[in-house]
Amino acid sequence: MTLRWQQAERKRHALDMNPANRPRPGERFRALCGAEVTPTRLDFQELGGHWHAPTCWHCDHEWRVIEHFPANEIPPLPVGR
Ligand SMILES: [Zn+2]
Repeated sequence: MTLRWQQAERKRHALDMNPANRPRPGERFRALCGAEVTPTRLDFQELGGHWHAPTCWHCDHEWRVIEHFPANEIPPLPVGR
C-alpha cells in the first residue's frame, strides 16, 4: 500500500496509489474517503499546477487509521463532506 495525496475536484484527497499506475489528468480515481474524483492538469504540481485546495479530512482520517496512528492523533471527523 502506498498512500499519496492528490488534489482533485477542489480538494486534496488521499489515495492508495500503485506507484506504477499513478493517476493522470482526466483519469478518475477513488480516494480513501470513497469519493470518485477526476483530477485535471492543474491538479498536478509537476504539470504546473498548485495545491491550494483544502485537505479532505475524511481522507486524512482514513490515512491515520490505515497507518495505525494512536487514537489521540486521529481527530474526530467534521460533519458533512
Ligand atoms: Zn477525500
